Amino acid sequence: MKVAIIGGGQLGRMLGEAAHPLGVEVRFLDPGHAPCAATAGPVTQAAFDDPAALAELAAWADVVTYEFENVPVHAVSGLATPVYPPPQALEAAQDRLREKRFFQDAGVPVAPFAPVSTAEELSAAILTLGLPAILKTRRMGYDGKGQFVVNDAEQGRGAWRALGEVPCILEAVVPFDRELSILSARSATGEVRCWPLVVNRHAGGILQWSEAPAEVSPELQQRAEDTARRALEALDYVGVLAIELFDLAGHLYANEMAPRVHNSGHWSIEGSITSQFENHLRAVLGLPLGDTAMASAAGMLNLLGTEPPLAELLAVPGARVHRYGKSPRPGRKLGHVTVLGRDLPEVRARLGALRRVMHDATHGDP
Ligand code: AMP
Repeated sequence: MKVAIIGGGQLGRMLGEAAHPLGVEVRFLDPGHAPCAATAGPVTQAAFDDPAALAELAAWADVVTYEFENVPVHAVSGLATPVYPPPQALEAAQDRLREKRFFQDAGVPVAPFAPVSTAEELSAAILTLGLPAILKTRRMGYDGKGQFVVNDAEQGRGAWRALGEVPCILEAVVPFDRELSILSARSATGEVRCWPLVVNRHAGGILQWSEAPAEVSPELQQRAEDTARRALEALDYVGVLAIELFDLAGHLYANEMAPRVHNSGHWSIEGSITSQFENHLRAVLGLPLGDTAMASAAGMLNLLGTEPPLAELLAVPGARVHRYGKSPRPGRKLGHVTVLGRDLPEVRARLGALRRVMHDATHGDP
């Protein structure tokens, strides 16, 4: 079985690593010279929308998938080989306005929002939604990029100028108690599995750490799974889908979705019976999905911008280190570490130890 993966970053690499034990062959498409995924399979070096390169990979593969959501829809729409997740999922996820409307149509609550494409629309949206609010570009925003918190009208105008006056949405700030994500998989045969809810902590819009399972009632887990199912079915989805949620006093609001494997599911490599990477491959290949139960309570810390000495990370009990082989740059995801434990208190203590190691590496050992 052969899977072509558009994108050669760490998500592609981890998909490739999950493919090897199954005997599934992978190839990547990436414009970079030596992308991170090159250790996991051959890379065709070409633009993501290079028609000849895509056609050649599609002819080789049984299925084409991708590891980032800004794949040009037109590039994958006409391929002769199935593309999963389907292009309609890309279309919904690439544009925040379409995404919010998609959630609304699927009966999933979202924060109040309004489209903004002129200065007049911005003023009207501020009046309707109130402040503070967040101005976000409709397209190409990720990891907190392309968005500003707006506290007053003048700041709003400044933010809109700083974003290049491109089409945006203004969104009410949700004073959430915590951020959660629900990871789910739907196979080409229609089978659906969800992982336990994950708690995520962001700073500056970038995921810092995750903890699973989230301490939630079975009823909240069920509601999150219902949300995932509605989205999966509305999109006739195949693959892993991540939905980021705000939890405000037990009410869940969908923030955004990623039609791909997701950073908040990295713990599943060690912490789940079946990882998100393996289930994504199983799903797109039409194979039975694997059990998504927890193998153990788990925490995950991103290595952002700098990598602490390996020995210090490995000294934390239960630590499983994943380094992506990338050169350091401020804020860049260079790797992650998963810690397992018998229960959440043990996981939290170990995650705390990891965070101290990371803090010392970032700010200098006191
Ligand atoms: P996003 O790019 O939409 O995932 O936003 C990045 C992060 O900004 C989220 O993970 C939240 O921490 C924060 N954020 C985004 N939208 C909102 C909102 N409407 N209310 C409160 N926080 C938000």
